[in-house]
Amino acid sequence: MRMSKLFVRTLRDDPADAEVPSHRLLVRAGYVRRAAPGIYTWLPLGLRVLRNVERIVREEMDAIGAQEVEFPALLPREPYETTGRWNAYGSNMFRLKDRKGGDYLLGPTHEEMFTLLVKDMYASYKDLPLSLYQIQTKYRDEVRPRAGILRGREFVMKDSYSFDVDDAGLERAYQAHREAYIRIFDRFGFDYVIVAADSGAMGGSASEEFLAVAENGEDTYVRSPGGYAANVEAVTTPVPDPVPFENLPAAHAEKTPATPTIDTLVDLLNEAFPREDRPWGAADTLKNVIVMLRHPDGSREPLAIGLPGDRDVDTKRLEAQVAPAEVEAFIEADFAKISTLVKGYIGPGVLGSENASGIRYLTDPRVVEGTRWVTGADVDGSHVLDLVAGRDFTSDGTTEAATIRPGDPAPDGSGPLELARGIEMGHIFQLGRKYAEALGLKVLDENGKLVTVTMGSYGVGVSRAVAAIVENSHDEFGIVWPAEITPYDVHLIAAGKDEAVVAEAEKLYAELQAAGVDVLFDDRLGKVSPGVKFKDAELIGVPTIVVVGKGLVDGVVEVKDRKTGDRENIALGQIVARLTVRLPASAVS
Ligand code: ATP
Ligand code: MG
Repeated sequence: MRMSKLFVRTLRDDPADAEVPSHRLLVRAGYVRRAAPGIYTWLPLGLRVLRNVERIVREEMDAIGAQEVEFPALLPREPYETTGRWNAYGSNMFRLKDRKGGDYLLGPTHEEMFTLLVKDMYASYKDLPLSLYQIQTKYRDEVRPRAGILRGREFVMKDSYSFDVDDAGLERAYQAHREAYIRIFDRFGFDYVIVAADSGAMGGSASEEFLAVAENGEDTYVRSPGGYAANVEAVTTPVPDPVPFENLPAAHAEKTPATPTIDTLVDLLNEAFPREDRPWGAADTLKNVIVMLRHPDGSREPLAIGLPGDRDVDTKRLEAQVAPAEVEAFIEADFAKISTLVKGYIGPGVLGSENASGIRYLTDPRVVEGTRWVTGADVDGSHVLDLVAGRDFTSDGTTEAATIRPGDPAPDGSGPLELARGIEMGHIFQLGRKYAEALGLKVLDENGKLVTVTMGSYGVGVSRAVAAIVENSHDEFGIVWPAEITPYDVHLIAAGKDEAVVAEAEKLYAELQAAGVDVLFDDRLGKVSPGVKFKDAELIGVPTIVVVGKGLVDGVVEVKDRKTGDRENIALGQIVARLTVRLPASAVS
């Protein structure tokens, strides 16, 4: 490909809406172009990269015996109605009507369609095990499309599904996918971690995520020295033992004027009600936070969370607990409607479905029987002290919504947790029989008995991978592609206008192509200076840059490694041999 012909326009300036490096660089270097919020067009360079990602995924899926199919993106309502997801998917699903008024959707994920397809064609245990996959465009009307193709409303996903007669078969299919994913992400060339995931709205059991390690990733994960690793959404709090409370003092309400926040309350407690053993801390207080849940059917429900005052509600953790409901803020107008809520002084006295406010009340797992709390007295400027869980109040259950902090204990006792951020790149998931049951996917077993098939579901963010790779591999000048992903193997620059340079570069271009090397040749003449060509090459990010220029008088060209910046002069006669040796085996056919 010649730069003089390539459909590209590199930009000097960052797009105004770009918050993260991958978004900035992919737009500036001419890989993608925004068509609408969260919806992107792939330009020729971008499409080559996307195809490389797809190729890796396809090769590794084929290698575990999964077979490729392709479903439509435009799907009928009925199967999704049967499993409840037509509603449960909420506002994230793009729904539309055809001319006859029939309901359709743009597929956000395809469990239903795969289940029905297998039901249509297979009837016996002899047909199984089976794994099918597709690489396809998905549609989700994300609340916050962001960071370019990292979180789009239209995006490419590889989704596969396994079908087995028994749990042992599902376990094997799951492990095969897990190993395929390890090979895929190794080949993507980025740092990643495998973490326990929350099974969330999908229902089912074992589930792990592959996260690309990235400072500005949306997911937070934890790790312990003993090898525990989990998405923060999946972390469970070790539950302390109940405390005997027979000899504890009775609860007493006290005037605590102007203490609507935990800090002001703790200060006042230490001044007016000093403890003998130690000063009061935020963890002695029970903070009650109210949020508004929006259910998939559009109805709204207030929910109260009671948690130690030294922690906050982590919305992502809470959202994982209440899915498919979404979490919204509980605003002034909501407060105004419930007269028993005294803002800043809300306590368990009015919370809970049995109490005055009627608001469902869930407490943190640390709020066990016998623990003693300072909390709101439901009267302006008043708190209750020595309020004992299990004696003076109960909740409607517990929930995992509190923030996780570095140093918190791992649930399996493997040491203190450390927190880091990542981008979710893949998700493997033992679905079990949920979808097969709902849609009636059964086969005859060895004894001629009908059994429900057990399924796994496995996703890779294919378009997201393009961005995640850039997040992992770039510098201040531009992208640095890994060998298997790069749109071209060599970026050849004719640095200068004299005939000898142009002729030698043209000759090298032809020879490299003849040797099977994919070359992007900057043959631009006219006003394009060598400086501009170098800048574009660094921005575009092809791993090997070859410069035909000044060195020609000595019979050499310069080879630059985009990643290390190392430069080397190579004799003209050796350059083709040298570059073909450097290439990965897969690039030389
Ligand atoms: P997330 O928590 O990031 O929204 P998810 O849990 O909804 O992801 P899955 O439904 O498991 O994701 O989809 C499989 C894969 O598809 C994800 O691991 C991710 O890599 C990718 N993916 C999901 N949503 C998007 C999106 N909006 N844009 C790009 N890729 C996405
Ligand atoms: Mg999502």
